[in-house]
Amino acid sequence: MSEAAERSRSPIEVLETAGATDVGQVRMANQDAFGEFRDEEQGRHLLLVADGMGGHRGGEVASQMTVDTVRDYFTSRSGPAGDFIEAALHEANTMVFDRAAADGQLAGMGTTAVAMLFDQTPEAWIAHVGDSRCYRLRDGVMIQLTDDHSVVGELVRRGQLTPDEARVHPQSNEILRAIGTQPEVLVDVQTVAVQAGDRYLLCSDGLSGMMTDDEIADVLGSQAPEEAVRTLIDRANLAGGTDNITVQIGVVGAFGAPARTGRPADVQASPAATTRPSPPTEKIDFGALPWLAAAAAIALIAAWWLSS
Ligand code: MN
Repeated sequence: MSEAAERSRSPIEVLETAGATDVGQVRMANQDAFGEFRDEEQGRHLLLVADGMGGHRGGEVASQMTVDTVRDYFTSRSGPAGDFIEAALHEANTMVFDRAAADGQLAGMGTTAVAMLFDQTPEAWIAHVGDSRCYRLRDGVMIQLTDDHSVVGELVRRGQLTPDEARVHPQSNEILRAIGTQPEVLVDVQTVAVQAGDRYLLCSDGLSGMMTDDEIADVLGSQAPEEAVRTLIDRANLAGGTDNITVQIGVVGAFGAPARTGRPADVQASPAATTRPSPPTEKIDFGALPWLAAAAAIALIAAWWLSS
């Protein structure tokens, strides 16, 4: 193998991650879901955010079905390539659509999805449907890597609205593409070149609708992932918390090291294992995270105190 080819297959050695979801200040239920899936042996790492919609638990069902489907594809497909994500989102579309057709109480449910896969190449994969976003912060400059499939997103692209106007527009909730609302769905897929030091952020519109890109970039660039996730959720809640808020962050700490041998001992010794001691989990079950519930309770008390 040539040196260049060798380098092109070098995995990301350190990806420090954090993620959380919060019901917000207004909604009674959290219809967002997220997942984080790691395969240390194959050097793959997937982050996913889904923002469900539809009454009577429909949104929760749609977003969770989508996270579960992507997880199933992630665990059953081998190899570094991320093209399985597109197939997984098509499969999720079929499953959510069929379930909605079969259960009148779930009729019309759907969900957004944004997924990012880091694999053994210097390119990461991003797939998305709807207005959940992926941002990249590099050298102090943050850009949105995904186009919002939304009414206001279209107007912004045509220059008829500014991003700030879009955030408060009456149609800001209307999305043009969703998983599960039609028999077929168009999934946007792209690959992006990854560099050491890059900070990636996936979020639902409960974050991006409450904070400007500059405000998000300030936090993303100045705090470690765990702290940044908490700060961003706190800020979105302080700004009103009108929607469920979900944030996932992945920081590329080292890249381009020699290809790993695949021995588990190497993985255990990596800085990723020390900076993120918790087991690889899909942090979907809100109730399973007591500290998150406690933080939400404190935020609610603070909001009540501020408003009284
Ligand atoms: Mn939302």
